[in-house]
Amino acid sequence: MTTLPSKGSAGPGTLPAEIIEYGKKLVKSGLVTGTGGNISVRVPGREAFLITPSGIPYHEIEEQDLVLLDLEGNQLAGSRRPSIEQHLHCLIYRARPDVQAVIHTHAVYTSAIAATRQDLPPILDTLVAAFGGGLKTASYASIGTEELAQNAVKALGKRNGVLLANHGAVCTGEDLAQAFSNAQLLEASAQTYIFAHLIGKPVILPPEVVEQEAQDLAQRYGQKK
Ligand code: 13P
Ligand code: ZN
Repeated sequence: MTTLPSKGSAGPGTLPAEIIEYGKKLVKSGLVTGTGGNISVRVPGREAFLITPSGIPYHEIEEQDLVLLDLEGNQLAGSRRPSIEQHLHCLIYRARPDVQAVIHTHAVYTSAIAATRQDLPPILDTLVAAFGGGLKTASYASIGTEELAQNAVKALGKRNGVLLANHGAVCTGEDLAQAFSNAQLLEASAQTYIFAHLIGKPVILPPEVVEQEAQDLAQRYGQKK
């Protein structure tokens, strides 16, 4: 077994330290409770990713508890058992070369929609700006199975978020900060969608508006040159 990517090898902040930091943020922001959810980051320049261990509370996870897996699922470093959702993370990295970080959450409002097995339609332009449109709910499969991973990859498509039927959600990004911010935005949108149902019928943005907004906002919003 090789050693885990350590200080200095992964650029500023270092990957293990970042994963640990975001684990604590996940709990603090209420996107997970207890040992729910998991986090991984692709290791730059390697066909491998670093993932949280299974069933260890986030505030107890130390760098040596993280596990390095290759894209075939082989354990390259770390002595802990990796997250039960290793297939989910692995299949996403295989299917999506643009994805550098994956966060799986059990956020309450998102999970409520996932429990109904409905998709989250494009009811907010902020949702469209972040994800390019609404998000799908993947077909149900048991926790930690390859089937769950395959269903999630299929429903994820080219987006950076997908709901997992009767379970939670997965958000991806070009780094951990973006994956986390997507998970927060997804939860806020899910809450808004549910609240909108309490006072009326949420209006779903029509496909031509979604397409226009997705393209337009990608150009106009933020600091991209
Ligand atoms: P792990 O602790 O094994 O990552 O599992 C948590 C979870 O959310 C399973 O879906
Ligand atoms: Zn889970």
